[in-house]
Amino acid sequence: MENIKVLKGFKTILAGMPDMSVIQIPEPETIAVSALDIPYIRPKLLVKQKDPVKTGTPLFSDKRNKNIRYVSPGTGIVQQIIFGERRRLKEIVIVLSKNRDKKDDFIQFEPISSDSIDTIPRLKIIKQLQEGGLWQSFRQFPSKDTADENHEPPMIIVSLNSNDPFSPHPGVVLENETEFFEFGIKVLKQFSKRIIVTSRQGNLKKLNKIKNFVTHTVPDFYPAWDPGVVLYHLKKSRNENHSWCISAEHLVLVAKFLLTGRYPVKRVVTVTRSNDKKPHIITRQGAPVKNLVGSMDNNSLITTGRFNGRLVDPKSHMGFFENTLTIINDNQKEELFGFIQPGFSKPTVSRTFLSCLTKGPKHLDCNIHGEERACINCGYCTNICPNDLAPNFVMKALLSDDIEDALSYGLLDCCGCGLCSYACPSKIELTKLLSHGMDAHYKDKE
Ligand code: SF4
Ligand code: SF4
Repeated sequence: MENIKVLKGFKTILAGMPDMSVIQIPEPETIAVSALDIPYIRPKLLVKQKDPVKTGTPLFSDKRNKNIRYVSPGTGIVQQIIFGERRRLKEIVIVLSKNRDKKDDFIQFEPISSDSIDTIPRLKIIKQLQEGGLWQSFRQFPSKDTADENHEPPMIIVSLNSNDPFSPHPGVVLENETEFFEFGIKVLKQFSKRIIVTSRQGNLKKLNKIKNFVTHTVPDFYPAWDPGVVLYHLKKSRNENHSWCISAEHLVLVAKFLLTGRYPVKRVVTVTRSNDKKPHIITRQGAPVKNLVGSMDNNSLITTGRFNGRLVDPKSHMGFFENTLTIINDNQKEELFGFIQPGFSKPTVSRTFLSCLTKGPKHLDCNIHGEERACINCGYCTNICPNDLAPNFVMKALLSDDIEDALSYGLLDCCGCGLCSYACPSKIELTKLLSHGMDAHYKDKE
């Protein structure tokens, strides 16, 4: 097992770590498939309101590759198709069947046996995953778009940890799933010769048998486990910039689907809040956000990640890639003489508050303490970037429409972790600017 040396990132300990206990919440009345957390997709609807659907019925496909389907994680009736601005598909909401016997009426695919996987043609596996609604689990660098089926990736990175520092613990997600995980690795070997499995060092003890599959460990601070950071620290050639990644959770779903021929619907979710320690929650894919977060005060926001998550409406549902909800206090009141307050519990990158001298967990909130200003070349963004970018230089190149310069400063190595925006004292939305730059470059090349 190798150790990847990541030197920069967010090293402060945060309050709100979830408990390792697990609860199962009752089946929700509605579930949904969201198109909002799927990058670059151009959805083509395959159902209409009031249509009955089974578990595994395709709801929409991707116009760029119509073979890639997004399927229903439950059996019931299409209640609503919600569009956003410019008729962009947001969610397809399904009322689950109340008939206990028909709780899950599955679309059945031909199962693949564990022994035969080495002999099954790669394209057959891909076709089954695309039709079954799980191909989007594979993402391709540098843009992290859905993997190109015609590309043979030089490496596939399997991350045991999801996006947020408090995403579900792999010890909980993978408990009793060793067999599926092992089969998943066999599937990956059909796609690439090099499989990297990464884990946070601090998680190893609770991994049991899964520990035997880990090839690389990463430090325990955010975002060292992000596949984009792992790739940056491992790659030796340009060709590797087009590697793939998949989370361990999705790899297990892929394995379950191929072995049983049925779309797996169970998900493990964490809901975290600064002053709380909640258990891990077992629920169904696409569960309603309000069922998971329970009651919260009006001054709070819900996001799917502390530093780079999407803001979610309590009336909406969890997306395919989302397994963490963070409730953050949104108190935007100005603090009188805030700059001379000791700030013992405030996280600080610039060592402005005395909290930098204390070890206890710190509390994040949404207060940005001021408005956007011009860049003052302080270098905090560079000092925190795990992939050694100088985000201020990339930003300036992008603002002057010089994509070549932005690329030469490493734009494509940005993993979108959000730390540069978090650290910037001038409140510049660096991550958003870089991500738009990356999207524009990617779409240009398509
Ligand atoms: S540029 Fe910003 S968002 Fe990108 S990897 Fe560096 S810190 Fe993260
Ligand atoms: S942190 Fe903000 S102000 Fe400081 S160099 Fe970076 S972009 Fe400029």
